[in-house]
Amino acid sequence: MSDNDDVPFNRDYPLKPGVVDRVRPGVRRILCDNPSAFTFSGTNSYIVGEGKVAIIDPGPRNDAHIQALLDAVRGETVTHIIVTHTHNDHSPNTAALKAATGATVYAEGPHRASRPRYESEQHTSESGADRDFIPDVRVADGETIEGDGWALQGIATPGHTANHMAFAWVERKYLFVADHVMGWSTSIVAPPDGSMVDYMASLDKLAARPEDLYFPGHGPEIPEAQRYVRFLIRHRRAREASIVHRLAKGEADIPTIVRAIYIGLDPRLVNAAGYSVLAHLEDLVARGIVATSGDPVIGGSYRMAP
Ligand SMILES: [Zn+2]
Repeated sequence: MSDNDDVPFNRDYPLKPGVVDRVRPGVRRILCDNPSAFTFSGTNSYIVGEGKVAIIDPGPRNDAHIQALLDAVRGETVTHIIVTHTHNDHSPNTAALKAATGATVYAEGPHRASRPRYESEQHTSESGADRDFIPDVRVADGETIEGDGWALQGIATPGHTANHMAFAWVERKYLFVADHVMGWSTSIVAPPDGSMVDYMASLDKLAARPEDLYFPGHGPEIPEAQRYVRFLIRHRRAREASIVHRLAKGEADIPTIVRAIYIGLDPRLVNAAGYSVLAHLEDLVARGIVATSGDPVIGGSYRMAP
């Protein structure tokens, strides 16, 4: 969410839907026409390799986008479809693309939540999960998918979703990072699908890796990616500190905390901001810093632990 100016966001992304953009040798991207407050200008699908290629994230259910992808690879063979995570803006086009190409589908696994739903949770965030998705091949953390002239290593990066996986083209130091790290905005981490503890651990994991050019699921590529990841880590720690600062003044519910710490927030993102705050609170409660009555849920009231 674009609520802070401490992270050097880049929203300069003039790419038009359906246009094939050869962003680096061996890397093409095509934008799907699904803009929103959550997807920025839409979902990026990537074509990796030449001749025998992989397509990363076929996108939401969208026939025009399928056609654009097929037009882009005319005369080539799609050998692999790789899915980073099971949100409705990334995976639902997989079945149609597989039917059209016969490619094998790779992903960490089907959709699952980061934790079980509490009794007291009437309804949870509108996660937009694709619960129908099942990969042909499940990729384990650190496992490499070999193609013709390319190789992508699966890097488990849970947090945005439990099954989120980034894919590193190790030889080139590129990382297809999907929704874990984006240049235009911070990522949504909404329990129970998402987990802040996992999200922070996954940021630390990327910070320790050599890739320095990231291709995200939305918006422009991220150069100097190591530096950018360090900004995101600092940003999350600052967010946590402002939640603690607010609670030090007295008990508060989540809408009150959101109003206190998000200045100038896009009204369409207030609900998502609430879930991000919940993700931090869940972590703070687990660490014994913050207390609540019962389970840490979106409707709960929070105070500093005695
Ligand atoms: Zn997502």
